Formats: sequence, C-alpha cells, structure tokens
Amino acid sequence: MGPRVDCRTILGMKVTARTPDRSRLGDAEVSLHERPPRLRLGAPGAEREYFLDWERAVDDGGHLRKCVLCGCDTLYRSRSSPRITIIGAVLAVSVVAVGLAGYGTPSSLVAALLLVIAIDLVLLMRSEWRLTCYRCRSTFRGMPIARYHRGWDARTQRRIDSASQPSPGSS
Ligand SMILES: [Zn+2]
Repeated sequence: MGPRVDCRTILGMKVTARTPDRSRLGDAEVSLHERPPRLRLGAPGAEREYFLDWERAVDDGGHLRKCVLCGCDTLYRSRSSPRITIIGAVLAVSVVAVGLAGYGTPSSLVAALLLVIAIDLVLLMRSEWRLTCYRCRSTFRGMPIARYHRGWDARTQRRIDSASQPSPGSS
C-alpha cells in the first residue's frame, strides 16, 4: 500500500488563468500532484503556452500556497454567494408586509418562500471555496484549501498593488 493521497489533489484544481494585467486567458485543469510546467490556453487553433511557477507553490500538506501564474504569494479565499438569496429576501419581506397589513399570509407565498429558502441552502452547501490571486486575479478551485488563506482585505490589496508597481525614482 502506498501513501494515502487525497483524490481531489490528483483530480486537479480548476484554474481560471489571467495575465499580470488581469486579462482573462482561459480555463484549465491542473493537477497539484503532477504540477505540469506549462499550460496550453486559448481558442482552438490559437493556443499559447504559459509557464507555471511551482517554486514553493505547494505547502507540506499539498495545498496551493501561491499563484502559479504570476508568482504572487498572497491569495484570498472567497465563496460565490447564490444570487437567489436576493429573491428569498424580497419574498420574506413581502410575507411580513402582507402579514402586518392584516390580510393574513397567503399560503402560496409561504410555500414559495420555503421553496426558495430550500434551494438557497442547497446552493450554499454546494458552492465551493476558491482562491484568488491578489495580483493577477487568477482563480483556483476544486481543491482543498489551506486554513491560512484569508478573505479579501483592502490593506493587503494596497500592499500588493504598491509592491507590483515599479516606484519611480527607486532605481
Ligand atoms: Zn497571480
């Protein structure tokens, strides 16, 4: 028996790759286990190869630590919030408003509300965390995420922005 390897690591993470100026290159699936040195991206027939920087990119636990596209060592975690929550909020307010107006709450409205909340919960549980690069905005998902990655933070963003811009007069 070999060492137990997390199957999600082998299946690979889904990458939405961007250039350093944040223009979108395309989507690809990259195995954290195999760590391919190059990535082919682009429209069929017009593909280009991009080099991936795996230097210290994966920590001891097999988690992604930094952006393999631009080399930035700070990523933030985020979770796509389901749009349907807004519909749920609107419905909840209407139920309360109708109830307050003294008409009694129509059971169809309550049924609709419960249905939306149920769909909401399912979507929330199925939505997955992803990591995004502070510098190039490439995203990485479909893999286990280490606990040390935090949510987006304005101070960190300013620090990364000022570090990636060559300051005049410091040559
Ligand atoms: Zn990056």
